[in-house]
Amino acid sequence: MEAVIGLEIHVQMTSLKTKLFCRCPADYRGAPPNTHVCPVCLGLPGALPVVNREAVKKAVMLALALNCRHIAEKVVFSRKHYFYPDLPKNYQITQFKGGGGAPIAEDGYLELLQGGGVRRVRIRRINVEEDPGRLVYTEGDITSSPEVLIDYNRSGIALLEIVTEPDLRSPKEARLFLEKLRAIVEYLDIADLSLEGSMRVDANISLPGGARVEVKNIGSVKEVEKALSYEVVRQRALLSRGAAIGRETRHWDPLRGVTRPLRVKEEEEDYRYFPDPDLPPIPLPRELIDSAVAMLPELPDARMRRFVEEHGLSRELAYALAMDKRLADFYEETLKRFWAPRLVAVMLAVDYLGFLEKNRLRMGEDRLNPDLLAKLARLVEEKVITPEQGKHLLFRVAREGVDPVEIVEREGLKALRSEEELRRIVERVVEANPKAVADAARNPKAVNFLVGRVMRETRGRAEPRLVRRLVVEELRRRGVEVGE
Ligand code: ADP
Ligand code: ZN
Ligand code: MG
Repeated sequence: MEAVIGLEIHVQMTSLKTKLFCRCPADYRGAPPNTHVCPVCLGLPGALPVVNREAVKKAVMLALALNCRHIAEKVVFSRKHYFYPDLPKNYQITQFKGGGGAPIAEDGYLELLQGGGVRRVRIRRINVEEDPGRLVYTEGDITSSPEVLIDYNRSGIALLEIVTEPDLRSPKEARLFLEKLRAIVEYLDIADLSLEGSMRVDANISLPGGARVEVKNIGSVKEVEKALSYEVVRQRALLSRGAAIGRETRHWDPLRGVTRPLRVKEEEEDYRYFPDPDLPPIPLPRELIDSAVAMLPELPDARMRRFVEEHGLSRELAYALAMDKRLADFYEETLKRFWAPRLVAVMLAVDYLGFLEKNRLRMGEDRLNPDLLAKLARLVEEKVITPEQGKHLLFRVAREGVDPVEIVEREGLKALRSEEELRRIVERVVEANPKAVADAARNPKAVNFLVGRVMRETRGRAEPRLVRRLVVEELRRRGVEVGE
């Protein structure tokens, strides 16, 4: 039973300096509540909005990157009316198709590479709109908090709303879509999506025989996949019992890992949309579109293809790098200093990301940089140190910012390349562990134990495979036959 999924994604344009319709600073995070406000974003009577030109340009760039066939000739904003404490004007300035309004762009698509094939997910529209204020729940969440605080610093922040057609077929596909969208937004320098609350998703999902359920306001890509997986299971269970699934809006609780009902949708809300009389339609200037086209950078798919075709990376590695702009930039900066694409790619996408995750760090919170990584890669590539040692050193460099060449010199970490020397260490270890030697014929673990001891003696300076061969040879010399 395949799911039908469509997403509505809100992205804050965090790269803008000011809000969408006033000159209040856009960087509200960490500011004391209700300090980045003015009559416009507080909705005081008589205040007039002025459109942020840069916001329109970023929206056009995204429209181009998402292959939108239709870009509006005039930028029109509409009022969407509703009463809620986060909305001081009682209407949100947004875009709406109808009544003389229109989205900034329509009819695009994004391609997902999946299992060798390409899946096209249609984009219905892109809107430019303002963020409402931020509601702070003092205990628990929207369903449980006894009181709510309001911070209007977020009121009027520029948002892009991206709405897909219901073309996604599984929670995983939804995640892949969002990963790619996120990458594109970062490549276009629209937003730093690692910022808390910078990307919020409403996920719509239905199963055959059931109505559409909307899960509101999910805060991260991973949570979207989890919330949708939960809904698939929940809805499937209901349908298989013969129960009906009605139109409904639900809330995702990331701590408990469940969705809960927020409200039942009997019919479409009536928001009384109409074009905002304070914001007359502005013809989209030709030169703005031209400069958006000129500013389009290489996008993630193209970069991934280049990594495969010109650097010889596997598709998996190329994808892992290209989908993370900062990581991909780091990779290319390192290659400028030392050309070893496959080695550097693994060091970054596997070892370094593993290090960050294990230490709960984000890129930039550690001390690795392209200079140090290039030096480290050279040490490994030229076999001055073993790959194991390289990995070990990467963690140290990332933690302490030390120069790997100096450490290798100072601590004598150069790889043991003379078999002679290694053989002497093997003999010594075998000599010192008679019990393991006696067990070795029956128990492969005893061989592993000896190999481990030798590795420890060499402080990781030897190739494990060579060590194993020498240990087995030494055992045979002593009449202990072991399998390889
Ligand atoms: P509304 O007008 O209520 O916002 P739309 O038809 O515009 O509803 O769709 C809103 C979102 O719901 C879109 O992302 C769309 O892809 C998705 N959607 C529409 N129909 C379905 C469905 N049957 N199952 C899942 N998602 C759907
Ligand atoms: Zn303001
Ligand atoms: Mg909206």
